[in-house]
Amino acid sequence: MKYILVTGGVVSGLGKGVTASSIGVLLKACGVRVTSIKIDPYLNVDAGTMSPLEHGEVFVLDDGGEADLDLGNYERFLDLSLSRDNNLTTGKVYQSVIERERRGDYLGKTVQVVPHITNEIQDWIERVAHVSVDGSGQLPEVCVIELGGTVGDIESMPFVEALRQFQFRVGAGNFCVVHVSLVPVIGAVGEQKTKPTQHSVATLRSLGLNPSLLACRSSEPLGDSVREKLASFCHVRPEQVLTMHDVSNIWRVPLMLEAQGAHKTVCSALGLEAAAARADLHRWRTGLADKWDALVTPVRIALVGKYVELMDAYLSVTKALQHACLAANRRLQLEIVESEHLVAPGEGEATHSQDEHAAAWAALRSADGVLVPGGFGGRGTEGKILAARHAREGGVPYFGICLGMQIAVIEFARSVLGLAGANSTEWDAASPDPVVVFMPEISVTHKGGTMRLGARRVLLETSDCVTAKLYQAEREIQERYRHRYEINPEYVERMEAAGLRFVGRDETGARMGVLELRDHPFYVAAQFHPEFKSRPFKASPFFLGLILAASGQLNTFLSGRATPVSSPVKRRATDAAAHKQQLDGTIHAAFQNLAVQEKQ
Ligand code: GLN
Repeated sequence: MKYILVTGGVVSGLGKGVTASSIGVLLKACGVRVTSIKIDPYLNVDAGTMSPLEHGEVFVLDDGGEADLDLGNYERFLDLSLSRDNNLTTGKVYQSVIERERRGDYLGKTVQVVPHITNEIQDWIERVAHVSVDGSGQLPEVCVIELGGTVGDIESMPFVEALRQFQFRVGAGNFCVVHVSLVPVIGAVGEQKTKPTQHSVATLRSLGLNPSLLACRSSEPLGDSVREKLASFCHVRPEQVLTMHDVSNIWRVPLMLEAQGAHKTVCSALGLEAAAARADLHRWRTGLADKWDALVTPVRIALVGKYVELMDAYLSVTKALQHACLAANRRLQLEIVESEHLVAPGEGEATHSQDEHAAAWAALRSADGVLVPGGFGGRGTEGKILAARHAREGGVPYFGICLGMQIAVIEFARSVLGLAGANSTEWDAASPDPVVVFMPEISVTHKGGTMRLGARRVLLETSDCVTAKLYQAEREIQERYRHRYEINPEYVERMEAAGLRFVGRDETGARMGVLELRDHPFYVAAQFHPEFKSRPFKASPFFLGLILAASGQLNTFLSGRATPVSSPVKRRATDAAAHKQQLDGTIHAAFQNLAVQEKQ
């Protein structure tokens, strides 16, 4: 096993995660099997308790791990399925060491940061790196470790020290460091300044870690003299200094690294020279980086949320929309609508102005499709309900995720069933018609709090629904959940009679998974979060459905697909590969059909 440590200097928010996952993409393009670990030096055990406004979205993994959003970068860029252990935090390390201390595992010794915490970190990294994560069953060859924060922070010191020791544990040729830094431009003449990078590399080296690559973030490419200056002051050769300037889209980053020979430098530091010669990023370039920039026909999607001040709060949702636009050949125009602004000023606790209100409605009305993402708490829900109503009544394609499904149900109960006080008990415990209620799950496999987390099966009630067609699924689909509240089963029959179909449910039939509205171009909502499993080359079916519907292509697309064949309730595991092959074939055929229609 070989390791690449990615550290950051000068300031946070430089795109260390993107750089680290791009290095992974490069290695994968060289035929190397890659895994990754993200280290977050905060004391929270996981990201589950952190506000999306402070730290961006909480990324949910198959095993129910609530992780830093960088894990999403790795899963998407490298097409992996990671576990909660791939996100290491100070909280987890201390929890584990303290539990062992209580068990008496340290045999009366004084338990200290060095060696106990630092050993725990090294053992953890080694253990997690040796787990197959790409579905092949084969072990990875290289593990990319991203150390969060900036080098020199008090918080990350135990990790830096552990990793300093780790390079000796794994031996020469099995460990290298990539340092991501900033080269700012100062003054009217636009001079690129190297001093911050010099200082941060000096700090890193004083802690015993010598970078093999310096990845320098800057708005423009580095000048030759700047590169040489950095090389001489930072103890590297000029070719070890990489320019990471601003590019037109995120998928250009691996290409930018390749163009500067980053894969050769990393591979030679790790004794993988033969692999470097095989680098092939053709599909990445044509299918993602170039394709994204060449998309012309716009599709306008309104994302109606409440964490809109920090768009990282909706990172996976935005990415999933991008993947769907790549698949549907549309240029994404994302309208961010602050849901509270949709409510008339002066109503309730609203504090926004008339202009903000008008702007929010203008954005919503101009949209070809509406997306209401997940969320917690009552703030902003009335505005989301108005958005759902606008989409339902106006025949505008709607996709609701988690809270967005609960919103669709509340709106339907109020407007169609005439239950004016219908609401969720999450924020309205006294509602006369609690159509969304707390239904805790007692699970043997998913311990912990009261949240229903991670991958679950969703059984389809019928193959005659948009969901079955988009997923090309006969009986069931699998997606990731993160919620506490459920559609109240007591209201389901009445809603179904009025046209809302609950086409996906859990094994008991009591928990609603997917709803579809009859006689509407596309009005679909899911209790799960499909955005977490969307990949650049494998757009998530519901996001694709939304974009296709919003751009008038859904019917063509669906008619190009074979009707799902019904099969015995339980498909045997051995059939899975054959099924996937059939699925890929049908998807391919459907897209070809689309392409032909587009040309006409
Ligand atoms: N707050 C809702 C619940 O807990 C929805 C959660 C979500 O959107 N992730 O059920």
